[in-house]
Amino acid sequence: MTLNKNVAVVGAGTMGNGIAHVFAQFGYTVKLCDVKQDYLDRALQTITKNLDRQIKKEVINETQKKEILDSISVTTDLASAAADSSLVIEAVTEDINVKTAIFKTVDEKAPADAIIASNTSSISITELAAITKRPDKVIGMHFMNPVPMMKLVEVIRGLATSDDTYTRTKEIAETLQKVPVEVNDYPGFISNRVLLPMLNEAMYCVMEGVAEPEAIDTVMKLGMNHPMGPLTLADFIGLDVCLSIMEVLHTGLGDDKYRPCPLLKKMVAAGYLGRKTGKGFYDYNK
Ligand code: NAD
Repeated sequence: MTLNKNVAVVGAGTMGNGIAHVFAQFGYTVKLCDVKQDYLDRALQTITKNLDRQIKKEVINETQKKEILDSISVTTDLASAAADSSLVIEAVTEDINVKTAIFKTVDEKAPADAIIASNTSSISITELAAITKRPDKVIGMHFMNPVPMMKLVEVIRGLATSDDTYTRTKEIAETLQKVPVEVNDYPGFISNRVLLPMLNEAMYCVMEGVAEPEAIDTVMKLGMNHPMGPLTLADFIGLDVCLSIMEVLHTGLGDDKYRPCPLLKKMVAAGYLGRKTGKGFYDYNK
């Protein structure tokens, strides 16, 4: 089936503006939707700044920047954004209740053959699909941050996702010059299932006094060739986000090997959330 090139991106935050950016860059017409005009204005400013970066790196030119910006329109009306789209990508706050409401509206308003994708990091695609009357057309498209730079998209098949939906989504990801990887819907998919336990283990090393954070990060950078140490990365992701992903793995997989490190819990309780609060495993106020 040929699809029109209209997509709606719901949520204009960190991920949503990046997703809108890449779809527009590769020839799609994008409707970007959020709850407040302010958030949409901010998203357009971020997209403009990131396009300017791409001009500096000679990835695009001024004419392409204008074309890309012209193909993004913004709205606070979800129903109208969904109405003419062959693909709706939900990238709103990681909260099942917020996502449930969006999936219900999009399912009602989007064309019958439209695919509904979620960029969720940890909510079950199977569960989101079950909210709709088209579970075969619901799928995960898990982009990485920053979206314009990162090549990977985990394409997550819920229990009911059809082969046709998977193939169409994979092909769409390829038109964005991304590398799609097929994943079945289990907690944490691949990326967070493999990454987060490593970060959690690094935190246990701090808690048990195995070494200082700098030493742990140095071992992983120089010894394993990781571009960033695990504790620097945890601070960057946000310790609250790390804790909630470990909780999803622990609850969803029921294995104690995924128990969140008590030091992580204590730091989150203290409000030490990493870079965004100025303090995590490192102090960013210095
Ligand atoms: P964010 O907080 O930066 O942005 C979320 C946006 O959703 C906000 O602008 C908010 O106003 C908007 N929103 C909330 N309710 C809405 C509604 N009812 N309708 C329309 N918009 C609404 O969050 P983010 O970091 O961009 O994360 C979005 C999703 O992407 C989450 O599911 C998250 O798990 C996932 N994700 C995040 C990252 C990351 O590194 N930040 C990476 C991969 C996936």
